[in-house]
Amino acid sequence: MVPRSLLHAFRLGREGLLDLLFPRLCLSCGLRTLAEDALFCLDCQSQLHPADMYRFPDNEVASRFRGRIELAAGAALYYYEKGTRLQQLMERLKYRGETNIGLSLGAYFGRLLVENEPFRSIEWLVPVPLHPKKQALRGYNQSAWIARGLSRSMGIPVREDLLVRTRETDSQTRKGRHERMQNMSAAFALTPLGRQMTAGHHIALVDDVLTTGATLESCALKFKEASPLCRLSMLTLGMTC
Ligand SMILES: [Zn+2]
Repeated sequence: MVPRSLLHAFRLGREGLLDLLFPRLCLSCGLRTLAEDALFCLDCQSQLHPADMYRFPDNEVASRFRGRIELAAGAALYYYEKGTRLQQLMERLKYRGETNIGLSLGAYFGRLLVENEPFRSIEWLVPVPLHPKKQALRGYNQSAWIARGLSRSMGIPVREDLLVRTRETDSQTRKGRHERMQNMSAAFALTPLGRQMTAGHHIALVDDVLTTGATLESCALKFKEASPLCRLSMLTLGMTC
């Protein structure tokens, strides 16, 4: 006997059958989503705070780095706050091995970015590296998965061979800006390949959440020191207000 749900799907046609066999599930709560291409159900969607920074080059990301580093472009996909669904998503991506979250959100973000001029000239996506010890422990770098998602929809290669993390850094939250920068500036280095290749190129640094910007700034400064003519952009999934 054919299950009723299957009969229903046949009545709905091919789309209905596909939906039954491969239901589109909300990335956040796991319930079904209705719209095609939707990453979230309506309830979760309403709890996220999308930022349309990709439309305006002179946005909050640019102003967070103003006076620190000149950006070619910068954008965050969502505003980030503690205790929200976005924080839960970022924790699952970072600590629970759910790399598909980085891949899916990265690909979605990339589709928005490619429509806009300053992002089209990006040549390489460089994820903020983890210290090798930390990466071995975690098994993956969450920012690299976001970069792979971006790469999928933007058609731009991910380069993990240009920048390395040379020092593990402790929690930054209680330090002042000057102390944070001192602590961070020794934490990253370009590889020999990174030093050779950066001249004149447009590089986008990719991270999960932008808070103070100390990490991204110190990565960017390494590229600027090696090649003052290179252009730098910053792409993150979340940004604190
Ligand atoms: Zn949901």
